[in-house]
Amino acid sequence: MDKHQAEKRLKELRLLLEDYGYHYYVLDTPKVPDSEYDRLMNELLQLEADYPDLVTEDSPSVRIGGPPAPSFKKVAHRVPMMSLSNAFNEEDLRAFDRRVRQAVGEHVSYVCELKFDGLAVSLTYENGKLVRGATRGDGTIGEDITNNLRTVPAIPLRLKQPYSIEVRGEAYMPKASFERLNEAKEQAGEEKFANPRNAAAGSLRQLDPKIAAKRNLSLFAYSIGEVEGKNVQTHFDSLMFLKELGFKVNEEAAKCETIEDVIAYTEKWSERRHELPYEIDGVVVKVNSLADHEKLGFTAKSPRWATAFKFPAEEVLTVLRDIELNVGRTGVVTPTALLDPVLVAGTTVRRASLHNEDLIREKDVKLGDTVIVKKAGDIIPEVVGVLTDKRTGEEVDFHMPTECPECHSVLERLEGEVALRCLNPKCPAQIREGLIHFVSRNAMNIDGLGEKVISQLFLHQLIADVADLYLLEREELLQLERMGEKSVDNLLAAIEASKENSLERLLFGLGIRFVGAKAAKTLAYEFETMERLQEATFEQLLAVNEIGEKMADSIVSYFQKPEVSTLLEKLANAGVNMTYTGPKKAAIAEEAGVFAGKTVVLTGKLSQWTRKEAQEKIEALGGTVTGSVSKKTDLVVAGEDAGSKQKKAQNIGIEIWTEEQFTQAVEQSEQ
Ligand SMILES: [Zn+2]
Repeated sequence: MDKHQAEKRLKELRLLLEDYGYHYYVLDTPKVPDSEYDRLMNELLQLEADYPDLVTEDSPSVRIGGPPAPSFKKVAHRVPMMSLSNAFNEEDLRAFDRRVRQAVGEHVSYVCELKFDGLAVSLTYENGKLVRGATRGDGTIGEDITNNLRTVPAIPLRLKQPYSIEVRGEAYMPKASFERLNEAKEQAGEEKFANPRNAAAGSLRQLDPKIAAKRNLSLFAYSIGEVEGKNVQTHFDSLMFLKELGFKVNEEAAKCETIEDVIAYTEKWSERRHELPYEIDGVVVKVNSLADHEKLGFTAKSPRWATAFKFPAEEVLTVLRDIELNVGRTGVVTPTALLDPVLVAGTTVRRASLHNEDLIREKDVKLGDTVIVKKAGDIIPEVVGVLTDKRTGEEVDFHMPTECPECHSVLERLEGEVALRCLNPKCPAQIREGLIHFVSRNAMNIDGLGEKVISQLFLHQLIADVADLYLLEREELLQLERMGEKSVDNLLAAIEASKENSLERLLFGLGIRFVGAKAAKTLAYEFETMERLQEATFEQLLAVNEIGEKMADSIVSYFQKPEVSTLLEKLANAGVNMTYTGPKKAAIAEEAGVFAGKTVVLTGKLSQWTRKEAQEKIEALGGTVTGSVSKKTDLVVAGEDAGSKQKKAQNIGIEIWTEEQFTQAVEQSEQ
């Protein structure tokens, strides 16, 4: 390919990627499977690497993140980004309405929008091209985070019409991405983010744009700072205009003719906020007519034509009675607050996370303290603060133990970690947690072996390691509490069936540090047998795509342990399969793995496929089919009359395909 041809192809690729990205990230209706997008992106990257002088600023390749910046520059906002006044209840909303009508008359109408809990940003476009993205900062001066914002796929790099415009919006992290990120952080022994807002802000304020690129952020555009050459009459029209330009605009924005409608809107979303796939903390109410905005003007701090209704804080007071210490599978010791039961956000809370010792110190938590407990969405409740003026003097200081609460070995703090760890490989707590992990859904998937049964087996000394599960006898199981003939039979059958699992499940189940379900699959696929993986060198591991140094190192040292060899031998002798039985490399020709590594749920009636056929196709193309939607699900294929599963998938923000999209993807991979 000569330079001229390359230029032409680059143009094509950019248009295609822009269009596919728009459909996927803005409209939520993917046009092509991810693998096709990735393939085109790789072609683009390759061409741009070959012809560096043909790289443009608005090329979709910036989505993967450019080189890190030494620091963020400050930028002044031409039109200040003011904060809004707050309304906390119905009365505040009515007072706002009275003030507005006094100033502009009775004809007033409003627009209600959800108040997203993320990071407010300003995006400047010149002749349709994104030239700058900045944080709100103090409203007058923000930070230039253009290179990070360019990686957010819902932010157009080029508008559909070449306007010069400054757009405001909220960058946010969907709940599902947030959970996945925290899971990965936990795996890596890193501290988790407290909520999606912190995670979004933390990701966009990284100097390395590649980190932001990996965080699955999104953005809702919600207002125009200024625009040249376009006359918009109402706020609602400006939302529609933003949509036309290619922005993602939230679908729940609604026109409200009266304050009664506004109040009804706030009530509806106060109740239903937890059903959304992203966090909100209130409702923004704006006067619709922009001419009225002019008349109303501003106070020193905020516009008079808008107010932010804040949902009642889901925080309550209760007494912290004790602090319990839990030893996790990786030996991390986590303090958990035991509380007087209290109702928060519709559920009774008895325990709350305290994260680690540093936080206990920082918040000055003592046993017997009256504490503030907060529950946000689906997130575990946490202790956010202490009411020190409620102290009676009876409160007792808490100290993290120096020994493991279960095995009494000395706890250590690894370099760069805040957590304390028990490093004893024979620690019963770690073994028990390891067993629970081993049988879990993404690992060996043994039904009927819940936490309670595992704890009992462990307590009765019927199992000491995961291999012992395969040596359990009927009579032994019958002695356990609440284990009748039928459940014992089922359990034994489930254990037996798990012996046939493909290698990746076993690998994940073993709980090798840093090896998550996805990496386990990659390893199983690449090395095919446990034996080969055991013999793999650091370099061989590193040569595998997706395996980094930390993981390679962890795998090598895991297999060097003599107790690991013993365990693997014991498992093999018990008849547990040690080879990869998924689709073979040869079967997954380069582009065929549309569903590679994906967990797919089929729901509703498919017209061209039987369930079984569809399932076989997905498996042949590298995916796994499961029955129920959870946050582990990657994709839902929804046929006709898809009911609750589709709804659930929508709520947790999982990709949903129509049957047509599914058929297309399968056909394309088979060409
Ligand atoms: Zn221990």
